[in-house]
Amino acid sequence: MGKRIYSIIICLVLLVSATAIGCSRRGESDGVSSSSEYQETLTQISTVGALLDGVYDGVIPYSDLKEYGDFGIGTFEGLDGEMIALNGDFYQVKADGVAYEVEGSVKTPFACVTFFDVDKEAKLSEGMDYADIQEFIDCLIPTENIFYAIKISGTFSYVKTRSVPRQTKPYPPLVEVTKNQPIFEFNDVKGTIVGFRSPPYVAGGVNIPGFHLHFITEDRNAGGHLLEVQVEEANVCLDYTSKLFMILPGEGSDFYQVDLTEVKRKELEKAEK
Ligand SMILES: [Zn+2]
Repeated sequence: MGKRIYSIIICLVLLVSATAIGCSRRGESDGVSSSSEYQETLTQISTVGALLDGVYDGVIPYSDLKEYGDFGIGTFEGLDGEMIALNGDFYQVKADGVAYEVEGSVKTPFACVTFFDVDKEAKLSEGMDYADIQEFIDCLIPTENIFYAIKISGTFSYVKTRSVPRQTKPYPPLVEVTKNQPIFEFNDVKGTIVGFRSPPYVAGGVNIPGFHLHFITEDRNAGGHLLEVQVEEANVCLDYTSKLFMILPGEGSDFYQVDLTEVKRKELEKAEK
């Protein structure tokens, strides 16, 4: 009981200063607007469990993935970097830390995309770090049992990201790859954090429970998988997403052979945090 009251007090304190500004509403030139059935859907390619086990072969090309969303995160065939999709533009942050535009023919082994609409927005306080931002968003949301697309735009006094180097077959598991991940640090940088908050019940290997965020600079030159951040001035926009559509790798894929019965939670934490 004590913990619950403590959480409510933290939420009240955080929300007192929350004001609604910044993000454009649906239909207000915030990138591609699709009237398709995927508008309010999180579309996911493969599973995090498969990625942890080294299933890095591409499932669908990015030209097809764009049909399912204009916003999201993911990776590339052979684990060739971190993907950020924003306003319909898709970027690939390779192991050199540079963001490249994604060619439509390139395939993805894992991605999560949606068409971003703003359902909730708020201003973040100066000095908030990654843990503070997670706590703040947890106070904003009405339930942790649905998915949320998260967009945080602004100026950050500090951002720390990582990428991953391209792998060749036989593919090593993700924890082996991330042992030697290149790290990038940014100071006083403008940009956008893109990603999702997933419900706790995806922890069986479907996705990463909680937050999974990537970063792209305003000039779209650099970014990566977000490891740490400190806010100078930024707004957070949330898109409540209660539909999930999954596209799993087809016949002949390593996906058909890999054992996904075991939940590798410790490996997931090591690989993604
Ligand atoms: Zn990531």
